[in-house]
Amino acid sequence: MERKSTAEKRSEALIKAHEAAKAAREAGVVPQRKTWAERYAEKPKNLRLAIACQCHDCLGGEGVPGVREEIRGCTSKTCRLHPHRPYKMKGEE
Ligand code: SF4
Repeated sequence: MERKSTAEKRSEALIKAHEAAKAAREAGVVPQRKTWAERYAEKPKNLRLAIACQCHDCLGGEGVPGVREEIRGCTSKTCRLHPHRPYKMKGEE
């Protein structure tokens, strides 16, 4: 029996997830994305979620248009969360 590589397994899982999402869309199911705060409320010990919530609060909240770009472009030199903020580009500090 032939063994599948990790990349092949991931690719199959991705295709399966895409098909499930397509089926849900065709069935009229509107995907509901949880807010960072909702996700944090479910996992209050998750540091990544805590930092993301703090960054959103720092720049006005999750509902503010463009907050994602503002967090990505945050230039604070004194904030200790700066290297850990969400939405950074790959390789960005
Ligand atoms: S990294 Fe920037 S956006 Fe996040 S908490 Fe610090 S100053 Fe605010």
